[in-house]
Amino acid sequence: MNTKTMKPRKSSGRQQLTPTTPRPSTEMLRQWMFYEGGCEAIDGCWVEPDGHCPHGHPSWLLYLGMI
Ligand SMILES: [Zn+2]
Repeated sequence: MNTKTMKPRKSSGRQQLTPTTPRPSTEMLRQWMFYEGGCEAIDGCWVEPDGHCPHGHPSWLLYLGMI
């Protein structure tokens, strides 16, 4: 008889941030990284390439693990 039926529960304490804007093209991301000195956050705000917007969303470059 199997009594170990409990599955590990995922902690829901951390907020999952999902992009609210379409993913920019790779060319766009390169431009931001090398020329603009800024980057769009995944919710459309303009932030530092390695920064987060006031709403807690990371830049696309951060989100995609490019920096
Ligand atoms: Zn924002």
